Amino acid sequence: MAYIEFRDVIKEYKMGEVTITALDKTNFEINKGELVVIVGPSGAGKTTALNLLGGMDKASSGTILVDNKDITKLKNKELIKYRREDIGFVFQFYNLVPNLTALENVELAVQVCKRKASSPKNVLKKVGLKDRLNNFPSQLSGGEQQRVAIARAIAKNPKILLCDEPTGALDYNTGKQILKLLQDTARSLCMTVIIITHNKALAPMADKVISFKNGKSEQITINENPTSIEEIDW
Ligand code: ADP
Repeated sequence: MAYIEFRDVIKEYKMGEVTITALDKTNFEINKGELVVIVGPSGAGKTTALNLLGGMDKASSGTILVDNKDITKLKNKELIKYRREDIGFVFQFYNLVPNLTALENVELAVQVCKRKASSPKNVLKKVGLKDRLNNFPSQLSGGEQQRVAIARAIAKNPKILLCDEPTGALDYNTGKQILKLLQDTARSLCMTVIIITHNKALAPMADKVISFKNGKSEQITINENPTSIEEIDW
């Protein structure tokens, strides 16, 4: 059995008389420690799938297995614990707390986590920010803010790191550095990392590429020899 399994997952949003089917019997599997890239056009259901996997939203039907546990069956309290301890999130626009420093942003995330967390200072050093610990987000560049967001997510030692368009707001070179950091993190911590991007050129960096179309995981490609992000030009 795979580490993560989506089985016939449907997600519908009811808006008055209209029902929008964001996921329409989606099926895919992800193994532990895999670096996965999810691609597909806007509206294909990528973010919905990530939010369901992260326990931020509930499926309408189907099964989502994570480490042998069906997370669609979790009660509210269990879901909060799952989200807090098992999942790290990285968003396009960083979502840092503006009136806390880089260090305080990471400390805050670690405080609510009961699993063995890494030292916030060490993690910030690991992402290349040892000299920026006491800066507020507004004093950091976009790339640096995203590094803080990654540090905040991985300091909890989550089982799965979910990244929704993590380079969407960054320039080419900064984006590449951020992806390198995510690729290195996946390898060195054996973390399962899932990255949504609309940029198909990034596909060679992944162990597995899942292409979404019309709410379905239409195509799944496995790369036996993923390319280092430095070798990819997009
Ligand atoms: P993607 O990430 O591939 O761009 P999304 O998962 O964000 O796609 O959206 C899939 C579909 O579900 C879209 O048609 C979108 O408008 C719809 N959708 C997403 N979230 C909601 C919501 N909270 N309420 C209603 N419709 C939604």
